[in-house]
Amino acid sequence: MRATRSAGASERASMPVRCYSMSQFVDLHCHSTASDGSLRPREVVRLAQRAGLSGLSLTDHDTIDGLAEAAEECARLGIAFVPGVEISCRWPFPGTLHILGYCFDPQSAAITRLCRRLVEARRQRNPRMVSRLRELGVDITMEELAAEAGGQIVGRPHMAAILVRKGYAGSIPHAFEKYLGPGRPAYFPKETVEPREGIEAITEGGGVAVLAHPTQLKTKSTGDLERILRDLMEMGLQGIEVMHCDHSRRDAEIMNGLARRLGLLRTGGSDFHGNNKEGSALGWAGDLRVPRAFMEELLTRRARAT
Ligand code: AMP
Ligand code: ZN
Ligand code: FE
Ligand code: FE
Repeated sequence: MRATRSAGASERASMPVRCYSMSQFVDLHCHSTASDGSLRPREVVRLAQRAGLSGLSLTDHDTIDGLAEAAEECARLGIAFVPGVEISCRWPFPGTLHILGYCFDPQSAAITRLCRRLVEARRQRNPRMVSRLRELGVDITMEELAAEAGGQIVGRPHMAAILVRKGYAGSIPHAFEKYLGPGRPAYFPKETVEPREGIEAITEGGGVAVLAHPTQLKTKSTGDLERILRDLMEMGLQGIEVMHCDHSRRDAEIMNGLARRLGLLRTGGSDFHGNNKEGSALGWAGDLRVPRAFMEELLTRRARAT
């Protein structure tokens, strides 16, 4: 499995992670059918094995429903598993702020409560978007949408998949441009949580909170990003996603520098969604692979906290 824009062999040979063997790579950011990925949790784990990964964290959006299945399959295949989640938080357009949570207690009331609230927000929003699409002449129903999603997290990527399949849009990004993106005719915002609420719930659940794909905040400068990171750290943030499929090599260097300066943990992952997102392959964060050491550092931080 390789991303389309991955590096060639000679380029890869000069990467900072070259000293790790195949089995020393992990992926700490991916999605399954429990949210908006196209593969079931156990299928993601089997793919991780084929990709030569020794560790995995499943980080579905706003739900922990896929974790038990993924943990079981990881145990069967001898892959180290870290419980994960990705919480969508309130943030000014056109940026997005997602907080990754790792190593929490999957039984935690704080995390269950937070996820329940986010599922409820989607329940309020989805029928509005579907009726608007119908007003616009699109043949789509809530039943069809539920079937497309297959889990509790039902959202715009599932609507986009239906729009593409039925020929209303040429591609998933086109469906967002034409109907589903902010300012487009079928868009409704959904109620989200404040970054503080997300970070605090993860911490209260015994987990480690990490800022996902920091470039998506769309800050004007590295200085602005550093100020935001300091604010988030006061709320309990402990790490930053250094490697991600949207990050250039330069972005990864900048995040590395910020992690060092601020004493943050580093994480990385593919943000793999199966067929529901182009340009992301499990085990690859763009051109880079994520060293197992990142997972070990997360586990150490967690162990120290308990
Ligand atoms: P939702 O949580 O239902 O609001 O959907 C958000 C998800 O839609 C994000 O996590 C992305 O995976 C996807 N998404 C958002 N904007 C776009 C876009 N322009 N093109 C493709 N996917 C997008
Ligand atoms: Zn997603
Ligand atoms: Fe995200
Ligand atoms: Fe993600």
